Amino acid sequence: MKPKFETRAIHAGCEPDPGTGAIMTPIFQTSTYVQESPGKHKGYDYSRTRNPTRAALEQNIASLEEGRYGLAFSSGMSAAAAITQLLDSGDHIVCCDDVYGGTFRLFENVLKRYHLECDFVDMTQVQSLEAHIKNNTRLVWLESPTNPLLKCIDIEAVAHITRKHHILMAVDNTFATPFFQKPLNLGADIVMHSTTKYLNGHSDVIGGVIVTSDQDVNERLLFLQNAVGAVPGPFDCFLVLRGIKTLAVRMERHGENAIKVARFLENHPKVKRTIYPGLESHPEHAVAKKQMSGFGGVITFFIKGGLEAARDFLERVKVFSLAESLGGVESLIEHPAIMTHASVPKKIREKTGITDDLIRLSVGIENVEDLIEDLGNALEG
Ligand SMILES: *Cc1c(COP(=O)(O)O)cnc(C)c1O
Repeated sequence: MKPKFETRAIHAGCEPDPGTGAIMTPIFQTSTYVQESPGKHKGYDYSRTRNPTRAALEQNIASLEEGRYGLAFSSGMSAAAAITQLLDSGDHIVCCDDVYGGTFRLFENVLKRYHLECDFVDMTQVQSLEAHIKNNTRLVWLESPTNPLLKCIDIEAVAHITRKHHILMAVDNTFATPFFQKPLNLGADIVMHSTTKYLNGHSDVIGGVIVTSDQDVNERLLFLQNAVGAVPGPFDCFLVLRGIKTLAVRMERHGENAIKVARFLENHPKVKRTIYPGLESHPEHAVAKKQMSGFGGVITFFIKGGLEAARDFLERVKVFSLAESLGGVESLIEHPAIMTHASVPKKIREKTGITDDLIRLSVGIENVEDLIEDLGNALEG
């Protein structure tokens, strides 16, 4: 019998330490390992290549995403960069148009210098995706729900197209987490995460992971992980492993709180429009329901009164903290146009809908009545 998600979150990759019985995976804070004879060692030779604490995290996240192989990186962005390093100069990427600001910056401002082209496409219109595929397209990249507009893209439908054209498909699953959505089971080849967010969940680590079931892709990524070297330290791996143990209970509460906050905002007279995949009014609510078992903790809304009203509101919140990032136990709030998505040029922001009246919430696991009261007070002014 295969243990269920909650059980795997706690136990996958985490055997009691054979030497001592320690139940928690030790932090192997070491750069190198003593060899008995040249080349004869216990499977570990140098910690950029392999480290036991990192190996435990890699096995754990692979198990949660129901993939065969996991690889840990020093940040979500270095995990994303490793995936793009599978490509060669002259290759073409198709990416969803509403994408994490740092991913946009990597594709647009770094990869272009290596003659990798990228087109940003609204993938909620899956039928139009095929028109953007060229002879040199090697990678389709998407997030669902997207950041910050929470568009939901039909992962299975996109996978159907990428399989037909033999193109790699990568899904940034940071917002949903494997608790709510498993892209590999929907046909994606590669899943990546910023573990900085929900997986670690406590706003005290920067990290990233990749999971795949494709042996060839895994071997090439393993090579890149070691050759390029953006690996996480053992202590950070330990913290992410510890965070993941409570992922299931945290995600349940994030989801329960978020739907209540979303309904409150949707009915508030100072709010123009609320976006949350769990609301019936969300344009892709049906897609979200089909591929997710819950809708996560991120909500965005448009406030009436433009930038001025947004600024006043953001200065008034007390329980929510005004900060970039998301996915921690504490509730955060931010202004994408000025904060997380400032690296996206204004013209492109406006085209995708990241306007100056847009506010993004990461609903934490505090008491939901406190959260709603805080937002209510700040909206009333
Ligand atoms: C934060 C984030 C990233 C980047 O991760 P870092 O750990 O900050 O490097 C990538 N994708 C999404 C969706 C994110 O939220």
